[in-house]
This record gives sequence, C-alpha cells and structure tokens, in this order.
Amino acid sequence: MNIFRQRALDEFSNHKAERHCVEQGPVSDYFAKNVFSEEKMHEYLSAEAFDAVTKAIHEGKKIDRSVADEVALGMKNWAVEMGATHYTHLFHPLTDSTAEKHESFIDRLKDGTVFEKFNGNALVQQEPDASSFPSGGMRSTFEARGYTAWDPGSPAFILDGTLCIPTIFVSYTGEALDMKIPHLKSLEAVDKAAKSLLSLFKDDVERVRVNLGIEQEYFIVDESLFCSRPDLQMCNRTLIGHTAAKDQQLEDHYFGAIPSRVTAFMKDFETEAYKLGILLKTRHNEVAPNQYECAPLYCEANLAIDQNQLLMILMKKIAKLHNLEVIFHEKPFMGVNGSGKHCNWSLVTDKGENLLSPGSTPMKNLQFLSVFVSVIKAVYKHHHLLMASVASLNNHFRLGGNEAPPAVMSVFIGKTLDLVLQFIEKSSFDQDGFMASVRERLDIVGSIPEILQDNTDRNRTSPFAFTGNRFEFRAVGSSVNVASSMYMLNAAVAEQFNEFRSRVDAAMEAGIDKNEAIMRVIREFVIESRSIRFEGNGYSREWNEEAATRGLKGISSVPEAFLEFVSPQTVQLFDSLGILSPREVQARFEIRNEIFVKKLQIESRVLGDLIVNHIIPTAIKFQNTLLENVAGISASFSREEAAEMNRTQRDAIRNISTYISEMRDDVEAMTEERKTANAIVDIAARARRYSDYVLPYLEKIRRNADKLEMIVDDELWPLPKYRELMFCK
Ligand code: ADP
Ligand code: MG
Repeated sequence: MNIFRQRALDEFSNHKAERHCVEQGPVSDYFAKNVFSEEKMHEYLSAEAFDAVTKAIHEGKKIDRSVADEVALGMKNWAVEMGATHYTHLFHPLTDSTAEKHESFIDRLKDGTVFEKFNGNALVQQEPDASSFPSGGMRSTFEARGYTAWDPGSPAFILDGTLCIPTIFVSYTGEALDMKIPHLKSLEAVDKAAKSLLSLFKDDVERVRVNLGIEQEYFIVDESLFCSRPDLQMCNRTLIGHTAAKDQQLEDHYFGAIPSRVTAFMKDFETEAYKLGILLKTRHNEVAPNQYECAPLYCEANLAIDQNQLLMILMKKIAKLHNLEVIFHEKPFMGVNGSGKHCNWSLVTDKGENLLSPGSTPMKNLQFLSVFVSVIKAVYKHHHLLMASVASLNNHFRLGGNEAPPAVMSVFIGKTLDLVLQFIEKSSFDQDGFMASVRERLDIVGSIPEILQDNTDRNRTSPFAFTGNRFEFRAVGSSVNVASSMYMLNAAVAEQFNEFRSRVDAAMEAGIDKNEAIMRVIREFVIESRSIRFEGNGYSREWNEEAATRGLKGISSVPEAFLEFVSPQTVQLFDSLGILSPREVQARFEIRNEIFVKKLQIESRVLGDLIVNHIIPTAIKFQNTLLENVAGISASFSREEAAEMNRTQRDAIRNISTYISEMRDDVEAMTEERKTANAIVDIAARARRYSDYVLPYLEKIRRNADKLEMIVDDELWPLPKYRELMFCK
C-alpha cells in the first residue's frame, strides 16, 4: 500500500483509549475550581470591591477605576496561589476564533527584587498590537491601536497556568472590533425593550436577560489519518473522497455506544470543562459516523457564548492528548450530515420568570403571547438577515442539504400554538361582543401549558423552532462564534418589542381599553408575520417552492446573502438600537466577504495541489500498470483473443485519460478564474465573482477525482479513504 497511507493506518491502529485528566471525588467538589467565581471573589476581595464587581455582574453597573486595583490584587493573589505565571486578555476578533497575548506577572523593582505584579490598569485595559486582526478598513495599519477592556460579566479563569480575562476589543476611536460588543449592546437593547413591553403587565421587573443553551456538534478523526490528508489539515474538510459504502444509512450511529477512545476523550474534556465552570450536561453520538454532540446547561447569553468559545479551545487541546482531531467544520464529509450549533434562546426576568413559558392564567398568557408573537414577527421581518448571519463558505456546503436546516427561514411553533394563533387571527373585533370573545379566546389560551406538556411534536426540519419554553435556532454553523447570529436575533426582537409597545400605546391613546389594545396588536402581529410560520417538512422541494411564493428569501449564494448586512433595513435596525454604527456594519460586511474569499482561495489552491501532485500521478501510475498488462497480453495471445481479454483494461485506460485531462483543464481554468477574481478591487464584487466562477470548480473537479478513486488500485491510493477516516474504534 501507499507508504504514507499505510503508516497513518498503522499508527491509527496503535492508538489506545487512555485517560489523561482525572480528578478525585464528585464533580461538585472540583466544579469551577479554576474560575475566579463569586465565591472566590468573596474570599479574595475587600467588601467594597466585592460589592462593585457583583453589581457589575448582576446589574451591569460600571466599576470605578479606583476599585479596579483592588480587584486586580485579589485576582492575582488567587491566580498565583493556583500556580498561574501569566495573564492575558481574551477577546473575540471578527474571525470566529479567540485571541490572546500572554504577559508574565513577574516584574523587578529598582533594587532588583523580583515580584508578581498585576494592577487595575493591567486588569481593565490592554493594548495588543491589533494591526493584524481584521477591521474591515476601520483601522489602517499605521493607526493600529486597538485596546481590550475587561468584561466583568464573564468571570476570569485559569487555563494552562495563565489567568484569562474575558474582554471586549475596540479601536482607538471607539469602534467595535469584536463580536462581544454588539452582542452585549444587543442584550441591553433586549432588556430595555422587553421591560417596556412588560410594563403593560407588571411593574416589578428590573432586568430581562437572554438565556442561551448552545448544543455543539463535532466530528472526531484520528490524528494520524487527519494529518495525512492535506485537505483536512488545511481546510478542515475533505475536498475529495468517495463516500463509503456504508455510512449513516442504517442509522446505527445516532445515540449508539460511544467508541472507547472517544469516551476517554469526552471524559477528559468534560473534567477540564467542569473545572472551568462549564456545566456540560449531555453527550451523545450524532447521526453521521464519528459525529458527536455535547450541550451545557443553559445560562446567561454572554457567558454561554464565552464558554462555548472556551469549550472549543479545550476540546482541541484535549483531543491532541488522545491523538485525535476535533473537526468543527460544518460539512467535513460529503454525503453525511454536517454539524451545527443549535442555539436554544429564551428570555428571563430578574424574578426568574421565563417569558417564553406559557403561564397558567389567561392574563399571564396575554403576556406570553405578546412576547411570543413579537419574536415571530422579528424573525419574519429580518428572516433574510438571520439566514445571512449564518451564511459562510463552510455552511454553504451544509445548509439546504437533506437533513440540514433548509437555506430559507421559517418558524415552527407546533400544532397547539399554531391553532391558538389561527384562532386569534380569525376572531373579529366588533365593538359589542368584544369583551366576551376576548374572554373566550383567553380561556383557550389559558389551556396552553397543559396541552404543551404532552405535546412532543418536534419538527427537526425547521431552522427556527419553538420547543415549549424557548426557541431553537438551528441553522447556525458548528465552527462559528454564535454571537454574530445572536446579536442580530436580539436586535430584531428588541425592535419588535418596541413596535409592539408603541402600537399598544397608540391604541390606548385612541381610547381603547388596555387588554383590548394588547389583543389587537397581538392579532396584527400574527397576521403580519403569518408567512414565516411553517409546520411542514422543511426538507421538501415543495416547501422551497412555497417559500418563494410567500416572498421568503433564502440563500442561494453566500456573498449575495451578505448584501443583507448593508441593506437600509439592517443598517437602520442596528443604528436605531445603538448596537452598531453604519460604519461598523459596513466593516463587518467587508470582513465576512474577505473571509469568504480567503477560505475559498485556500480550498481551491489545496484542491489544485491535491489533483496535480497526488491524484494525477497516482492515476498515471495505475494506468501504466494497465498498459503493461495490455502489452503483455497482446504479446502472448492472438490478436482476437487479446482484444477480448484487454477490453476492461482498455476502457479503464481510456477513462483514466479522460478524467485526468478534464481535471487538469479544470484546475487550470480554476486558477485563471482566481486570477480574474483577484483583480477585482471591491471585496464584495470579488466575493461574488469567487462564488459564481471559482466555487463551481470545486464540485466539478471533485467528481472526477472521486471517480478515479473507484477505479485506481486501492494499494496505490495516497489518501486515507472515507471508510478509514470515519470509523473510530
Ligand atoms: P435536544 O438535542 O433534544 O434539543 P439538548 O439537551 O441537547 O436537547 O440541548 C438543549 C439545550 O437547551 C441545553 O443546552 C439546555 O440547557 C437548553 N435549554 C433548556 N431550557 C432552556 C431555556 N429555557 N432557555 C435556553 N436554553 C434552554
Ligand atoms: Mg441535542
């Protein structure tokens, strides 16, 4: 067999299941051990500093600079006791990753004494050389200053001997260079708008928070096999590779027994996650072979996102200990399911009331319905933006495929609530019978919780589904920072809460009784957002056709979808809520296009390289064997006999030549297309050119390479095949 593939397979079979991270005692004993939690703050901070920090966490109050020194001192004492030597500000640049620059605590006094130093300034603000992070033209290199600033809403923690301080990242001129800032601002917008809506019903709500539970899907591949595939190494997905004869068709992987090497890996990263305060709840196999999922218990959205980012870092690190690679790519393997990050989203008041839980009394349900229909209307109004928010080159290969959320938005709410909304829509509002019919309606609404309890119909084909007490946004990609989708959702919802409130106010000013006014606006919202509701099969072709007739805009091309980021409607949304300025929106638009172009450029280069340096030479080698065989037969048998005996070989020889020359031509044409595209200055136009003219070649070239994989002698094939990559012991 090809020596490299053989070696990788040998290493693969030598890797054993082994634990590396083990803690004694029950999880509750070491949970959050590496986090500077409130409990530790209590121990290490003065009463005044503790008070300031907890107010910042729970009420969003600013921390006085004078207190910062004290907080820093307490934090450092704890960290040094825990064995930390360095600290870093940890931020989320616009690349889906996290960034960190470590600085040692150690310092020297004039008299030569060495000591550990960390003060309020170092805690609150850092100035990393920010010039190499994407800024979409907001910060040219000569004015490369950006700074990070502490986000007390997310606790500091220790990872690998470094104290990590979650921060925001802003340019010197105050523009957001990260995903955390717009997300935090969107949470404020939701808080404010939700309270304004809720004040129609009650007056004791001081804060409304977003809760988020992020389910993380991922693939696992043996490290040796992974490393012998340049496409996996460089692009995190296979650019070529014929599907295995058996993959997920028997549905034997989903919820099946987890292979022991993978279990050992899971237990190890869970142990480390627990120590970092990440409360992982579930783990299971997913549909595709080697695909898995884990989910933490939901928590406040800002923390949930930070923890998800941290979890991904952790999983990558721990996987290495097991000679495994975690793949977060949305579609690493053709023909089997891709991965997503389901975002379970709900709203909760400071009194602990979930605003998306239908209540037990009619009045409570009037409130529930107001919130519920506002969310639906938000998703309707900004359906294209929400789909654009999840659009990326990676997700392009996943969305719209069978068993992945469709590339067009719809909302599934389940039969019961659908009936309730239909009922509301049909009811009339003639003056006379109004109160009576409201009462009647509210009685029906009042029975929602009981019906919901045993209402287990869960539509898996919907990109945005109501699941009893929360919405689940399922189209988000598995590799991304979900903040970029979540702040768009939050903004859209805040806008509709405000709209709801102002319509009710207007009706009340016109002399309509409050409950009737609320009911009227609920009905208006139901009617206006009707087209986004879909209870059927989202995978079906009929739905795609129907969606178009309903005026719902799906994603056909990624850069085309990105245009929605800079549409007047979007710019107005973010500007009016103070989440992003038009300039910041424009920057994000440019960066998304740039990332799309760069990723596609890399994939196209890697593919060209694979074809020219791996696949074609292998095919020629095999063709030579065939030619030798044909020549030998021809020399040994009569012309007629030889012709008959050589038929299969000659066909194969001819086919190989056809595939080779097609691939060669395509690789050359693709390279030319890249050159043409690269010459386009405008980044959005360049991205569109890449999408329309470079992208199709990936598919086309792959088809021929995969055909060759089926013909060429398995012994010669240089790359581990799907059947070898996708089944871990
Ligand atoms: P499934 O795969 O069946 O959808 P999981 O258990 O994998 O469910 O994940 C569900 C996620 O939703 C978990 O993170 C869970 O904590 C979260 N969740 C549950 N209730 C809420 C809620 N009210 N708000 C936000 N997230 C929630
Ligand atoms: Mg799940």
